[in-house]
Amino acid sequence: ANPDIEAVDLILTDANGVARGKRLRPHELAQVYAHGRYLPGSILGLDLLGHDVHDTGLVWDDGDADRLCLPVAGSLVRSPWQPRPTAQALLSMYELDGRPAHGDPRHALARAVGRLGELGYTPVAAIELEFYLLDAASIASGRPRPIGSRAETTRVYEVDALDELGEFLSDLHRAADVQGVPSETAISEFAPGQYELTLHHRTDALRAVDEAIMWKRLVRGVAARHGMAATFMAKPFTGQSGSGMHVHVSLNDRDGRNVFAAEDPAGTPLLGQAIAGLMLTMADAQAVFAPHANSYRRFRAQSYAPLIANWGINNRSVSLRIPAGPAPSRHLEHRVAGADANPYLVLAVVLEGIRKGLLERLNPGAPVLANGYDHPGERIPATWLDAIERAEASAFLREALGADFLRVYTAIKRQEWDKFDAEVSELDWRWGLGI
Ligand code: GLU
Ligand code: MG
Ligand code: MG
Repeated sequence: ANPDIEAVDLILTDANGVARGKRLRPHELAQVYAHGRYLPGSILGLDLLGHDVHDTGLVWDDGDADRLCLPVAGSLVRSPWQPRPTAQALLSMYELDGRPAHGDPRHALARAVGRLGELGYTPVAAIELEFYLLDAASIASGRPRPIGSRAETTRVYEVDALDELGEFLSDLHRAADVQGVPSETAISEFAPGQYELTLHHRTDALRAVDEAIMWKRLVRGVAARHGMAATFMAKPFTGQSGSGMHVHVSLNDRDGRNVFAAEDPAGTPLLGQAIAGLMLTMADAQAVFAPHANSYRRFRAQSYAPLIANWGINNRSVSLRIPAGPAPSRHLEHRVAGADANPYLVLAVVLEGIRKGLLERLNPGAPVLANGYDHPGERIPATWLDAIERAEASAFLREALGADFLRVYTAIKRQEWDKFDAEVSELDWRWGLGI
């Protein structure tokens, strides 16, 4: 134990990807590592407004019993953006008899990794997250505004835009280094105030996602220290580009060799099968890729957010891209999820889609050679309710996430959808007043 640490945050990730938990005094930590910590299962079964979802089996079936939370090995690190010396550790939730608690999304990913392992493959994954930096004062005033001096023009890949953020970016990368989160590159994205940071490829897929969870807290925390707020909302501003979460995946065989590696820019037949499995399962999984009402505003033609289950080689207008690059690092990029999605669930359903493609030796058909938005193909559900209904009926998701988790997840989504749908908006009034 580090003597100057004043507090330790214990963090569980709920179905929506929200970090929940407790702040401990450091002398409690040894207890946590010896015996775990008990927390109510209901904290994983909350909708975004913080309301319990009753029919999930996480709340009332057992009188909201405590469950056992154990620290994720190697996740205890300092949180250097905190004003006082603070550390954090990730938790995972178990039933009292040691079985994985069904409400914890981290277990869904662990299971998906294990199933690929049974086929002899280890997934290698990297996550890219886009986000907006907002002026903190503008949020307080109720009119969120992105930072940036030239708010009218696109600043995509503009290096001056990064210069303006120099101090923030150095603090961010320093904080990431302290936490052992290998941040790679930073670019200025299409919209003013929008940025993207990429994380390293990891041969431990759970670690890749743990780092994404840590990364979101890092970005938010460091932004707050600089008078800004970071948001991973999928589409914060009308008419400006949305924020995606691209997932890069390859598979290693038992000897650690990438089974997608080939000089051919299309990779190997196994890569084709993986892509075909992802195309086939994409519509079912849309409620995971696009979990919120706002997520659906991101899917617009020519926005770089895909509308159709299709694939292409070195082509950004499709949902599954094989990026250009050297043969040994041949892999796929899954472009559907928004930055607002839960990365454990996203990677779990991606790996399960890949597994389906391999098991059934599916054929992806021909790649899209031109603009994927103009190309025929199966559309991914374009509205929230369509996606939720599709998820509720999906045998694929039941297998991929577990029937119990799917019940929790779709109950949360239905409850949120119902509240959102019932809300009379400003547009109702603007359009309705003169009718
Ligand atoms: N912002 C786009 C999206 O919503 C992705 C842009 C890119 O290709 O980096 O997915
Ligand atoms: Mg990007
Ligand atoms: Mg990308």
